[in-house]
Amino acid sequence: MIIVNSISKLRSLRKELEGEVAFVPTMGALHEGHLSLMSEAKKHAQTLIVSIFVNPTQFGPNEDLDTYPRDTEGDSKKCESAGCDILFLPSVSEIYDDNAKTEVSVASLTTNLCGAKRPGHFNGVTTIVSKLFNIVQPDVAVFGKKDYQQLAVLRRMVKDLNFPIRIIGSPTVRESDGLAKSSRNLKLRSDYRKSAVALSQGLVKAHKAFESGERKGATLEQIVKDEVETAGLVPDYISCVDPDTLETYEGGEKALIAIAIFAGEVRLIDNIELHEELAI
Ligand code: AMP
Repeated sequence: MIIVNSISKLRSLRKELEGEVAFVPTMGALHEGHLSLMSEAKKHAQTLIVSIFVNPTQFGPNEDLDTYPRDTEGDSKKCESAGCDILFLPSVSEIYDDNAKTEVSVASLTTNLCGAKRPGHFNGVTTIVSKLFNIVQPDVAVFGKKDYQQLAVLRRMVKDLNFPIRIIGSPTVRESDGLAKSSRNLKLRSDYRKSAVALSQGLVKAHKAFESGERKGATLEQIVKDEVETAGLVPDYISCVDPDTLETYEGGEKALIAIAIFAGEVRLIDNIELHEELAI
């Protein structure tokens, strides 16, 4: 595995590559969720490029940029074991020019769910992913369904801006108790780590209700709300939406519940596609 810090070095390596290139962008503190994206990516291309960059522009002023877990050495080993060929580890100054004036913004799909709660977050995401796509020039890029809204927004962006890149969504990898793996789980106090299981349990209950015929979005949301509040978690939002448009679910055969909660200071997200087979 070659570790690269500069854009120019990455570009010159990229030019020499033959065959298809798959790309997995991450913010590090890698876990099995990230590694599953890498193994999915390897199915689609000869070369795997992974980036680790804690992108400051997708964090709000009161969010956890400074305390976001970082472990470059451990991450490098994990990438190498996962079969990564090139690990791109740029600094903030390598990526962002102080005088930059350009931002990529997806108008729809970003105004509700996390978009409503984290103003500017998705502009940060779409801008950094566009920049990374231009630098890496992958044929395929893999993103986790755990960040369902992010995946939907990036699919839209790739269509709208004609990036010649296939976007693949990969299933959420979970702990044995059902909690979705997340770099932020490392920051959970032990009591909150235990109660965080209510997140996936609430989603499973809603899935069962949907399977039994429940089609009222508000009722499905309430099932999840009761579960997480009983466990002492504080909902940021719990929304039943159309999985394609991310607009409020109005009945019908396809539905998604997306949720964000606070477990103490730590904000966790999860989601479930109610019409799909239960995978939790
Ligand atoms: P992050 O490092 O949190 O920015 O995530 C990098 C990529 O890993 C994104 O595409 C995430 O959706 C994906 N990801 C994070 N957690 C998981 C998980 N538990 N299962 C599958 N993919 C994940």
